[in-house]
Amino acid sequence: MKNLKASCAYALAMAPLQLLQHKHCKVCGKAIPASRELCSGKCEQDWARREKKRKNTMLYYFIGLIATLILLFLLLMRGV
Ligand SMILES: [Zn+2]
Repeated sequence: MKNLKASCAYALAMAPLQLLQHKHCKVCGKAIPASRELCSGKCEQDWARREKKRKNTMLYYFIGLIATLILLFLLLMRGV
């Protein structure tokens, strides 16, 4: 959080306009222009790795949900 504050102050000092429309790097929190999502190639790699992991996790959740639904469906069908 300390880092985030410092980079905001940096953006303020560098360009008042940039403060109005700036973002923070999704990986390290550094202030960057609003048109960008990440600050550097290193952060881009880091983000890609995180996204991949996140997508995998989402996939497992999805498979688990479908399996649960199928199981519930089968149980209900047997109950009828
Ligand atoms: Zn970064």
